[in-house]
Amino acid sequence: MKIAVAGTGYVGLVTAVCNAEMGHDVICTDIDKNKVDMLKRGISPIFEQDLQELMQKNSKRLTYTIDYKLAYKDAEVIFIGVGTPEKKDGSANLTYVYNVAKQIAESIENNCIVVIKSTVPIGTNDKVEKLIQDNVKHDIAVHVVSNPEFLAQGTAIKDTLYASRIVIGIECEYAEKVMREVYKDYDVPILVMDRKSAEMVKYASNDYLALKISYINEIANLCELVGANVENVALGMGYDSRIGNKFLNSGIGYGGSCFPKDTKALHWLANMNDYEIKTIKAAIEVNEQQKLKLIKKAKKYYDNFEGLTVAILGLTFKPGTDDLREAPSLVNIPILLEDGAIIKAFDPVGVDNFKESMKNSDIAGLDRISYYDNIDETVKDADICFIFTEWNEIKNYDVEKFGDLMKKAIVLDGRNCFKLSQMENANIEYSSIGRN
Ligand code: NAD
Repeated sequence: MKIAVAGTGYVGLVTAVCNAEMGHDVICTDIDKNKVDMLKRGISPIFEQDLQELMQKNSKRLTYTIDYKLAYKDAEVIFIGVGTPEKKDGSANLTYVYNVAKQIAESIENNCIVVIKSTVPIGTNDKVEKLIQDNVKHDIAVHVVSNPEFLAQGTAIKDTLYASRIVIGIECEYAEKVMREVYKDYDVPILVMDRKSAEMVKYASNDYLALKISYINEIANLCELVGANVENVALGMGYDSRIGNKFLNSGIGYGGSCFPKDTKALHWLANMNDYEIKTIKAAIEVNEQQKLKLIKKAKKYYDNFEGLTVAILGLTFKPGTDDLREAPSLVNIPILLEDGAIIKAFDPVGVDNFKESMKNSDIAGLDRISYYDNIDETVKDADICFIFTEWNEIKNYDVEKFGDLMKKAIVLDGRNCFKLSQMENANIEYSSIGRN
């Protein structure tokens, strides 16, 4: 089939590459010329396991352009994978989605199916369909399909090719037929439903996972107070098939481009409908507090960080990605800088994006941050070390070296990277989440 994809970010590019892998001809368009130029050279603009290899393998079926008219004019199916970031009031910013809808209306010359992969509030698919139908230039039929994306960054290719399910929200049988054709070679269960329910599946799923994380984080906080160990608790809970063992790792809170904004968007949507969704409100509040947990723990050792050397291990919101959106590092590092700390930071892939996100900020003291490509140099002579991301490089670090290299071997671990016994044997002053 002839497929176009709007947006070459985490969702758009992965959708494009996986559909090319399944034999479709895919043309990708983005407004970011730098990204398109990199893609044309066979380079992925984002770090995602197996993505660049699969892109290069399917290069004959993949083209890239900034010319959206060229991309859309004769596509049978157009996927929309542009961002829906959070607005100040917590609602989803749909400007990018509506812009693409207008561009599609302006460009298409044949009947086509427009598929919204972006996470959008309930009712958006209806609005996009009307917007396109009201503005098309030719006498053609356009149907909009909701096809929410469930991939996780770090495992995006696997999550797409071997997805747990494909949700398709349709309002006409023809759209279902076309979507079944798109996905005919994916060995994945297809769930067909009405569009609004499909839109809601996405928010309900993401927000449930966020809630599960905030729940185990609160249990972890309580474990610390009563002397239990949250890892044992999670193990005991996870064996219950009604609960499951996923998303029971406690830590310093969730980040990323989805959970924070999708919880707020659902909360906002509920408010707009005169309903308060209390569980999600609690998940948001718990997460905001949890992100500050290590800073609070550090107060046991230092009243303030003036002139202290602070080692930071991990900047990205999770391992396996270069994405920093809503990462705990972005909340904690400015606090440490404001308090006078000298920061030494390590991340295997996130440094460039971290620098980029700091570039336009008004945070004072950015010149007090230096970056290292190895952990030894990062922790050397540090007065304290904070761990924000559970990269394997960090988990596999020889903990004896904290003692050998740091000025004071104090390690505050927001991701429970090490065994308590390991740190005790190495004589490290160690504090983690939910484990005394
Ligand atoms: P992203 O920011 O990585 O990529 C969005 C891309 O769209 C950018 O490259 C941007 O330049 C491009 N764009 C903006 N306007 C455009 C236009 N008019 N035409 C063409 N391209 C345009 O975003 P993302 O992380 O891929 O997320 C996209 C959507 O998918 C969001 O709604 C998000 O909530 C949802 N989602 C994301 C994930 C994830 O893990 N990142 C998972 C599931 C769902």
